[in-house]
Amino acid sequence: MPAAEFDAIVLGAGAAGLMCAAVAGARGRRVLLLDHADEVGKKILISGGGRCNFTNVNTAPDRFISANPHFAKSALARYTPADFIALVERHGIAYHEKTLGQLFCDGSAKQIVAMLLEEAAKAGADVRTGQPVSEVTHADGTFIVRFGDQDFTAPALVIATGGPSIPKMGATGFAYDLARQFGLKVVEPRPALVPLTLGGGDVLFRELSGIAAPVEARAGKASFREAALFTHRGLSGPAILQVSSYWRHGEPVTIDLLPDAPQGWLIEAKRSRPRATLRGALGALLPDRLAETLAERLALPGELGALTDRKLADAEARLAGWIFRPNGTEGFAKAEVTVGGISTASLSSQTMMAKTVPNLYAVGEAVDVTGWLGGYNFQWAWASGHAAGQVI
Ligand SMILES: Cc1cc2nc3c(=O)[nH]c(=O)nc-3n(C[C@H](O)[C@H](O)[C@H](O)COP(=O)(O)OP(=O)(O)OC[C@H]3O[C@@H](n4cnc5c(N)ncnc54)[C@H](O)[C@@H]3O)c2cc1C
Repeated sequence: MPAAEFDAIVLGAGAAGLMCAAVAGARGRRVLLLDHADEVGKKILISGGGRCNFTNVNTAPDRFISANPHFAKSALARYTPADFIALVERHGIAYHEKTLGQLFCDGSAKQIVAMLLEEAAKAGADVRTGQPVSEVTHADGTFIVRFGDQDFTAPALVIATGGPSIPKMGATGFAYDLARQFGLKVVEPRPALVPLTLGGGDVLFRELSGIAAPVEARAGKASFREAALFTHRGLSGPAILQVSSYWRHGEPVTIDLLPDAPQGWLIEAKRSRPRATLRGALGALLPDRLAETLAERLALPGELGALTDRKLADAEARLAGWIFRPNGTEGFAKAEVTVGGISTASLSSQTMMAKTVPNLYAVGEAVDVTGWLGGYNFQWAWASGHAAGQVI
């Protein structure tokens, strides 16, 4: 059977691929969108607890991690949260801001997938799912993709197969295999927005599983003020997920357990309530079991009035910079995204086209651009998919 011809083939019908196919199709291109999964946009469907945190109104380049922090600027500036919100509104999808600029559907993430599929269909894109992509070759300016037992050809190919986080949702490292096949560099992929695991002297904290507290967590130069959650394996919650994207094996994660307490609060507590214990003073500010564990660790028994200011100042400093030494992460099985990926040095920031392979593009999570928690990763998927969709 002769190969079916298209103007562009987009591999991966997730957030970035659907956007890219819809934009290119609307420009009159004959686009084929292929996915090995049985349905499109599976990660969109499970995102945001089923309500899809589809963008963040505070989107700015400094909310993205990449070996080249400037790379994302161009695409993000040319397709903004306002552009996506306008699309959502045109489709009559109700939404709300939850916290920190995060926009969620009032109803269901299914509405976002239906919207993208409708846009792709309106633009005439041919969407096919449920077959493996077994081979991609390139000869005489034409890409040939083997999908199931059929070959498809096009002069342009877009890699939109995402990153390897949550393999049980159909995620693979295929984007990196393809990139390497075409001589593009790959920045070492690591799980990100992922819970951290505790061992050694920190295992005691695993007994606090289920307890959450507002903290300021730091890893390297990054710090986030949000909730942390103790789990049976270690640490999670938004503050921890955020710092996990910056954390490297062997490094500490420092947590201010009382970010709202004014400096000198413990000495002040000694003055105002000299008969209170450290356990009691902490219990007034923190969940009870956490207060108990911290007081045990600080090992300052007796009444505050009997403790020196020096000892109390030291305890306060430890509480403001409690050092955890995670022994790992919960890995790609639990990671919301991947840091690293196809090197931005190999791509044009305007079009997402590979510098060394004309008409080969990479978009979305496959690329070494990773957003913070809170709708930023979808905004990157929309923006990068849009950038390539405008030129293929
Ligand atoms: C549990 C969870 C919740 C999340 N919640 C949010 C959120 O609320 N807000 C937010 O901004 N981000 C969220 N994210 C991150 C977000 O889902 C991703 O950043 C985004 O989906 C990336 O878009 P993408 O199109 O690059 O990749 P994907 O959406 O992952 O799409 C890739 C597509 O490629 C297909 N594919 C993979 N390998 C192959 C192959 N070998 N052959 C053919 N097809 C292939 C996959 O089936 C998939 O359809 C969440 C992630 C997870 C895991």
